[in-house]
Amino acid sequence: MSNPATRFSLPDEKGHFGPYGGMFVPETLMTALYELRDFYEAVKEEPSFKAELAHHLKEFAGRPTNLYYAERLTEYLGGAKIYLKREDLLHTGAHKINNALGQVILAKRMGKTRVIAETGAGQHGVAAATACARFGLKCVVYMGTEDMRRQELNVFRMRLCGAEVRGVDAGQKTLKDAINEAMRDWVTNVQDTHYVLGSALGTHPYPMIVRDFQKIIGEEVRRQIMEKEGRLPDVMAACVGGGSNAIGFLWDFLDEPNMRLVGVEAGGRGIESGEHAARFFGGKLGVLQGCKSYVLQNPDGQISLTHSVSAGLDYASIGPEHAYYRDAGRIEYAYATDDEVLSAFKTMSELEGIIPALESTHVIAWALKEAPKMGKDKLLCLNLSGRGDKDVQEVMRVTGYKGL
Ligand SMILES: *Cc1c(COP(=O)(O)O)cnc(C)c1O
Repeated sequence: MSNPATRFSLPDEKGHFGPYGGMFVPETLMTALYELRDFYEAVKEEPSFKAELAHHLKEFAGRPTNLYYAERLTEYLGGAKIYLKREDLLHTGAHKINNALGQVILAKRMGKTRVIAETGAGQHGVAAATACARFGLKCVVYMGTEDMRRQELNVFRMRLCGAEVRGVDAGQKTLKDAINEAMRDWVTNVQDTHYVLGSALGTHPYPMIVRDFQKIIGEEVRRQIMEKEGRLPDVMAACVGGGSNAIGFLWDFLDEPNMRLVGVEAGGRGIESGEHAARFFGGKLGVLQGCKSYVLQNPDGQISLTHSVSAGLDYASIGPEHAYYRDAGRIEYAYATDDEVLSAFKTMSELEGIIPALESTHVIAWALKEAPKMGKDKLLCLNLSGRGDKDVQEVMRVTGYKGL
């Protein structure tokens, strides 16, 4: 088990979470990264910064989000009492706006006039473009051309908000390639440009900054569950792509020894198929895009092609803080397959009238299996990281338009 006191001292000043994390970037970026780290460390405690961020999280993004008792889902499963943290109700439809607002306000205070971002499914791109529109900053979003094709609507949303979307034609034409291009841009334009990274991933200080901007999710859960139930949950679970919604949801509870904390990865077409994005079920220690963590790779260290029905979980590496708590045994990890997710998508919509994002549906699929094994006296909190409006077309396509 990890020593609970250490969560406040992680990462160290070079971004290490035990053996994970770090700063594996070109030398030309080191000065900018140290500058960002030092500026962030100073400004995060400043009352005027905290007040500006809190104001926009409330008035613009819609915080706090509800902690909602899922009555019919609970009755249907016959086990633990289930609560949903409704990040799906936020402006732009997911938790990503928490981080985008934080980093754009940070960029403005650093005197940067231009913001760049990368995006896979487009959710982070939309959040970044939205925050930049709000503060009048120029925004360039890098996106693989394959993702642009699959997520046409999000491309249009970004352009509506005044962002320039630059297609990336290299490699698999997806998220990993978009991150490479964003890094290249940043190396060239670091003087006036801030790179808004979208998950608890990449080089230090990003895993720390993104976690800090997302940990409000768990802090609200603590207050809300105390109000509703007078005690902490027994189990909390969230889906894990890069890891930002999960670490934001779980971080406040890491030193509660009696709580079970769970992260759910994308099992794709099953672990044996090799077509998945479950880094803790087949990944090995490696470095990808600035950061040491578990990486899906072949024996020669070539990055594996990944697959998930949900674009937001489809990445070959996982945030370093998750790797640390996985080894420490503090957070346990599981996965849900595409088939389980598609089935849970329907169950959840039918029982609760809430259409979840396919990413978030991974944690619902996990709960469908696990909640019945828990006693009725147990409290289970699930993070509903986003809403599913963006996914209905894709679900129609993969289910052959026949319904589910
Ligand atoms: C992007 C996204 C995720 C995955 O990213 P994390 O950094 O792991 O949270 C999960 N859910 C939704 C709704 C997303 O848009």
